[in-house]
Amino acid sequence: MKPADPEHPIPIDAPTRAARPPVVCYPVAHLPDPSLAALRAARAGWTKVSETLVPPRDARCFEVPAGHFVRIISVDGPQVGDLNLWSAHDLTERFFSGKTRALHGTHLSTGDRLWSCLPHLRPMATITEDTLDWYGFDADGGSVHDVIGTRCDPYTHALLSHGGQYHHCCHSNLTRALADRTGLAVPEAEPHVHDVLNVFMCTGFLKGTGQYFMKASPVRPGDFLELFAEIDLLGALSACPGGDCSSEHSSDAAACHPLRVEVFRPADSPAGWEPSPRNSYDKSHGRPLTPR
Ligand SMILES: [Zn+2]
Repeated sequence: MKPADPEHPIPIDAPTRAARPPVVCYPVAHLPDPSLAALRAARAGWTKVSETLVPPRDARCFEVPAGHFVRIISVDGPQVGDLNLWSAHDLTERFFSGKTRALHGTHLSTGDRLWSCLPHLRPMATITEDTLDWYGFDADGGSVHDVIGTRCDPYTHALLSHGGQYHHCCHSNLTRALADRTGLAVPEAEPHVHDVLNVFMCTGFLKGTGQYFMKASPVRPGDFLELFAEIDLLGALSACPGGDCSSEHSSDAAACHPLRVEVFRPADSPAGWEPSPRNSYDKSHGRPLTPR
């Protein structure tokens, strides 16, 4: 964080330097249009094809074929969920929280895409409904569904608690869920777990220090976040041990609730929709492409 008492003197032209206007790094106007209206229209007459209950302080995997919808639903009480997504056919193509943040901002809502990692970088899913879209940004600068946090994990916990051992952080929950689904051993599954979409979590950065903060999630039972799968997806969702993340995580102290994941198959594909094509970059990186 920035020092309260800097070592270096303020230059004489500091106000001029700081007055330069910000420029959006990645204007998204030229990204492919998600065709939200067509996606939403395809929900009429859809059929629920699976339902997964994620127990508190644990995680479960689920599959969402391309062209299907998935809802992450709050049940019983306020609860935050940590979401991982992989290509169902290739675990090395996974959700890229950092580039999604660079493209769409710190917190996601309807119309935003969840992008896959390099060297893939294509839409994995499109958010088609967010019942917490009314929240916007609060007076603390907080908002919901962030792509700035990473996931609670036992390594950070061990560092901050002088060696404390806790086994139900989202990182561990997601690792066990992926191991159970794929048959990989836990040490093999763990490296596939990645930075999450923090579903329903309310977060921001403290003014002045820039520290990452959380506050009680405004989510209530019945709220949901709905995604449309742009490719065949394997997902994993952890019901964070922080519960509504109003006080602490990485412990059993918070009240925790389950989350429900429902997958729906539309009667017809959305008008004009096709699965995400491969990224058009030629992958030469400026060197001649050699046939393999
Ligand atoms: Zn967590």
